[in-house]
Amino acid sequence: MEKDNSGSFFNFLPEGCRLCYKGAKMVLFVTGICGKNCFYCPVSNERREKDIIFANERPVKRDEDLLEEAISMDALGTGITGGEPLLRLERVIRYIKLLKNKFGKMHHIHLYTSLAPNRGILESLRKAGLDEIRFHPPQNMLPTIGRTYYSVSIKEAKKLGLCTGVEIPAISNDLNGVISLLKEVDGFLNLNELEFSETNFAELKKRGYVPVDDTSCAASGSKEVAGSLDYGKLHFCSSRFKDAVQLRERLKRTAKKSARYFDEITDDGTLVYGVIEGNCVNLLKEAGAQEEMFEYKNGIVNTAWWIARDLAAELKKIGCKVSVIERYPTKNGIIVEMTPF
Ligand code: SF4
Repeated sequence: MEKDNSGSFFNFLPEGCRLCYKGAKMVLFVTGICGKNCFYCPVSNERREKDIIFANERPVKRDEDLLEEAISMDALGTGITGGEPLLRLERVIRYIKLLKNKFGKMHHIHLYTSLAPNRGILESLRKAGLDEIRFHPPQNMLPTIGRTYYSVSIKEAKKLGLCTGVEIPAISNDLNGVISLLKEVDGFLNLNELEFSETNFAELKKRGYVPVDDTSCAASGSKEVAGSLDYGKLHFCSSRFKDAVQLRERLKRTAKKSARYFDEITDDGTLVYGVIEGNCVNLLKEAGAQEEMFEYKNGIVNTAWWIARDLAAELKKIGCKVSVIERYPTKNGIIVEMTPF
C-alpha cells in the first residue's frame, strides 16, 4: 500500500487520479442540477441545483472559456462532475468531443455519475471519447449493488472498454457487495474522505460526525473505514490531499504557463512581483533594467520584486508608490498579499 504525506493511500491509481496528483486535471462542473440530495453533498449553495457550468473556478459561457481554462493550466485531462452530469447528456458529449478535438486523444477524460446509464448512453459517451467512468450509487444500494441496475451498468461500461470504478465517500464499511462486483469487472474503488462543507455541516453533525481536528474539514472515522478494507484496486483520497496537494499543483502549472519573465513563482504556485505606480520607465531604463524585466500599462509598472526593492528609495523621491504583490496566477487572480516598500 503506497502512502503520501497528505494522508491518502492507494495500491492502485486510476489514470484520472494520476493526472490529478500532478495538478494536470481540469475540473469541469457541467451542471449543478442533480435531485439526489445526498446528506454528505459538498456542492456549494451558489452551484447546487443551478444549471451553471464552471471549468475549475472559471464560469463557462462559451466554449472558448472552457478551452482557455484548459490552456491556462496546461491541462492533460478533464474530470467531468456536477450535480449529475448525465442529466445534461448532450452537453457532456459535446464537451468531450470539443476537448478531444482540441487537445487530442491523449487528453484523458473521466466522468462521475450517480446514475446507472444504459448501454446506449454508455456507447455514446465512449464513442465521443470518454476514457473512464466513476459510479456513485446511493448509500442504501451499496450492500446489495449486485442486484441493482448499477451492477448492469458497471458491467456494460467495462465491456465497452471504459476504465470503470466506483467512487464514494468512505462512510460505510459494508462494502463487500461493491468489492465483489468490482473484482468481477476488475474495477477500481475510490474512497473519498468524508468532509465537512458549509452545505452539509448540519447533516453530518446530526449523524454524529465531528471534524478530526480544528485545522481540517475531514470527518473523524472516515479514514479508518477506508483503512479497514482489503481490495487490490483501492484508492483513498484524503481531504488534506484535495486542499493542499491538488490545488497547489494545479496553481503551479497555471503559474508556469502565465508567469511573465520577471514574475517569481512561489512553492504554493502564487506569483510575486513588484508594482510601481507613477512615471518611472526612464528611471528603470537608466538603472539598467532590460525591456523584458518590466511591463508598463496605464501608469503602472510591473517588474521583478527585487528591482522594485532596490530602486524603492529613488522611486519614492520622484513621487512613485512602490510595493510587492503576491497573487494567484489565474485570470484576474486574487491578491494574497500587498506589501508597500
Ligand atoms: S449525487 Fe453528488 S451532486 Fe448529487 S446530491 Fe449526491 S453528492 Fe451531491
